[in-house]
Amino acid sequence: MDLSSVLHRLDKRIEGYRDEMINLQTILTSLPALAPENGGVGEAEKAKCIAGYCRKHGLTDIRNFDAPDPRALGGVRPNLVVSVPGRNRLRSLWIISHMDIVPPGEPEFWKYDPFTAVVTSDRIIGRGTEDNQQDLVASIFAALALRSEKLTPVLELRLAFVADEETGSAKGMVHLANAAGRLFNRDDFIVVPDFGSEDGSSIEIAEKSTLWLRLAVHGKQCHASTPALGVNAMRAASHLVVSLDKLPARFDRQDNIYMPQESTFEPTKREANVPNINTIPGEDVFYLDCRVLPVYDLEEIIGSVREQAAEIEHRFGVTVKISTVQKMQAPPPTRETAPVVGALSKAISAVYGVDPKPLGIGGGTVAAHLRQRGLNVAVWSRQAKTAHQPNEFCLIDNMVGNAKVFARLSLLESEKQ
Ligand SMILES: [Zn+2]
Repeated sequence: MDLSSVLHRLDKRIEGYRDEMINLQTILTSLPALAPENGGVGEAEKAKCIAGYCRKHGLTDIRNFDAPDPRALGGVRPNLVVSVPGRNRLRSLWIISHMDIVPPGEPEFWKYDPFTAVVTSDRIIGRGTEDNQQDLVASIFAALALRSEKLTPVLELRLAFVADEETGSAKGMVHLANAAGRLFNRDDFIVVPDFGSEDGSSIEIAEKSTLWLRLAVHGKQCHASTPALGVNAMRAASHLVVSLDKLPARFDRQDNIYMPQESTFEPTKREANVPNINTIPGEDVFYLDCRVLPVYDLEEIIGSVREQAAEIEHRFGVTVKISTVQKMQAPPPTRETAPVVGALSKAISAVYGVDPKPLGIGGGTVAAHLRQRGLNVAVWSRQAKTAHQPNEFCLIDNMVGNAKVFARLSLLESEKQ
């Protein structure tokens, strides 16, 4: 039988799974996997459900990579790897999704209970339905379709379900990459379906470095009618905010793979200072969120911020204390020409009829932890982009279509990276 009729049968098989996919989504939505720092007990129940479902449907090669966490149910944060044998058993196609979710946020913004999935003609509404259950479920049904059609993937197909993505990945992707290090190979194809556009044409291959700074400006508090008796920390802080606008000109490299193309340096949060109008504030605290092209060392950025701060200290007689809240130097991007990007593009165009484009983003996914290890990773999904919002939903067609993309990808001949 020729490949196109095989793929046609595979697509039909996946379309036939529509109701079962909705059913699994509904079950998973009822098991909120919230991290302990978000007031939850972790992913244990959800992982048990996923493993049970896979096993029941014949995906029996399941390995556990539990990260100890005394705060979580069962004392662990579970990570699962479900493997389907390929023709080439030395290389793998990974599809990595995360089990944890973010809290629902203010309940009044939700039309329905966030943990009871509501299914309409075209969507499933509930916390976690898109981020990341849509593609978690899609990956399982891609594997089930291959099995039912008695098709052997070209590479070993490995579905990874990780914990702790929303709160730093130390007990999720990082733990898995350390514990299962030998399962990952430089020639593997790795897909992380945790970012995407509405038409499915964006493949993320690069992330910017992230730097969050806290800047605390100290002056001297006094009555607002006698400013000479004090030092106005808010005025000095405001001048510092303005002088930090020199950063974009100083670090002005552009790279058109990224959106936006340049590094960004945004003053964001400002802490409350005095509660009343007639006191000159003795302290003013603000934060800077920097998303920086990987060509720059974040220490250079911090150095430049320190220079601006020193100038303000001198000019206004304040002291500025700078502390780092988050600092993640971006790993080198995945090449646009990496075979995983090419193969994924082929599968996407076949299913969705779009011409995929590689791009870089300012946010972060678990891909960074793998790229740091020299692995090529393509971050892709077709999604409605409702992650972290109230009334989050997954379009059922995206869940079904993405399953077709994953299944197709596993049958494509795969040159080495
Ligand atoms: Zn996510």
